[in-house]
Amino acid sequence: MDPQPLHSKWQSLPRGEVRRLQAIKLRHYLRGAVLPFSPHYRALFRKERLSAESFRTLKDFQKLPFTSKADLLEPEAVKNFVLTPDTAVLARRPSTLLHALFRGSAAVRRGFEREFRPLMMTGTTGRSADPVPFLFTQHDLENLGVAGARGLGIYNTPRDFRIINLFPYAPHLAFWQCHYAASAYGVFSIGSGGGKVLGAAGNVRLLRKINPNALAGMPTFIYHVLTQAVEEGVRCENLAMIILGGEKAPAGMRKKLRALADQLGSPNISVVLTYGLTEAKMAWTECAEGSGYHLYPDLVLMEIVDPLTGAALPEGSPGELVLTPLDARGTVVLRYRTGDIINGGLFYEKCPHCGRTMPRLVGEIARNSDVKEMQLDKLKGTLVNFNELAHVLDNAEHVGAWQLEIRKVRDDPLELDELILHVSKLDGVAEDRLARQLNERFAERTELRVNRVAFHTEEEIRGLQGVGTALKEQLIVDHRPKP
Ligand SMILES: [Zn+2]
Repeated sequence: MDPQPLHSKWQSLPRGEVRRLQAIKLRHYLRGAVLPFSPHYRALFRKERLSAESFRTLKDFQKLPFTSKADLLEPEAVKNFVLTPDTAVLARRPSTLLHALFRGSAAVRRGFEREFRPLMMTGTTGRSADPVPFLFTQHDLENLGVAGARGLGIYNTPRDFRIINLFPYAPHLAFWQCHYAASAYGVFSIGSGGGKVLGAAGNVRLLRKINPNALAGMPTFIYHVLTQAVEEGVRCENLAMIILGGEKAPAGMRKKLRALADQLGSPNISVVLTYGLTEAKMAWTECAEGSGYHLYPDLVLMEIVDPLTGAALPEGSPGELVLTPLDARGTVVLRYRTGDIINGGLFYEKCPHCGRTMPRLVGEIARNSDVKEMQLDKLKGTLVNFNELAHVLDNAEHVGAWQLEIRKVRDDPLELDELILHVSKLDGVAEDRLARQLNERFAERTELRVNRVAFHTEEEIRGLQGVGTALKEQLIVDHRPKP
């Protein structure tokens, strides 16, 4: 397998050429890796009377039925999505024959192992749904490194940077994407493991010790670490960049992080977002704030469809993201309905910031699952979108950290829902004024009223959110008694 260059030709090709090469790559991938070795897709293609050759163009690919998370949750289904090589079929591949001729059969066997033997696993991170395991082979780990290193290349990250990876140490994509990105790119990184491993205090100590140039992690956690660092009078004057992933980061959150970095002695840092998917086994980055996520068209094909009808939508339309990897091994899903909705769209035109022509996902991405997983749909009889709530609170002036608590009046299961908003203030604003403002903004944007706003110190909020005890900070907690 050829090593994939970090600055591949794919970054500067015109739209038509990208799509033509993607169609070739797709057929090659289906023919050589997926159809011979994926029990699920072999059966599906047979049933639909399709083959790799059915897709002359990417438009033809719409003939293939979608795969959804429900397909992966069927009992025993997961293993049918893992590419499981049949040595007899592998032996007939032209590349195998050549390889055997020149390198010998032991080298061929090592090649198969590298390509197909699962070595690592991450899982989807749904709060209520069962996590679905995704297996990585050595081939996938190399692609994970390539994707991550390209991301660092897009930021023009200097090789002498020091990065702290504050993503939670867990079988989730973010920590490992960051780890493999740094090692493939050749830049120093240390994984703190996030809040549960070292606590906010341990992360602040690391900040003092490493004096990092870049931080990568989840917005809420980084916010807590930097707030605590400011409280302790830490100086962190080399910081140039914060790379966020794992949860939403509205403009207000980026602004707060920039202000905190400024207080630590690093003015004008850039705060950039990444978007990753367990099912893609990689993440993508912005090149500048608001540029859109730059996709790697040789590794992934993204489509946008109508979330209700599944109909393909034209370029630049908002809709649901549908994913097909073009070079994955291990667990593989094709035309996968991600449930993620983008409010901008997929664009192939040249990026106005960096000039690259790779496809970009522009706009905010909302996880469909956020609404369902929070099980808030019956809250006060109003359908609540977690993203909308977070957006209101993260963009609110004077608000530092926050948590929304749902209770029942007097803890009586038959009583009405009660909504309590816990916040820490960023400045000396009057509490009654801020409470009134928050309530108005809430009502305006979500048709919900907060029953009570409770003010706390930053330290108290860290306790409420479970920094240092929970894997992920708890922004919304449901304390309604179970009926
Ligand atoms: Zn760009």
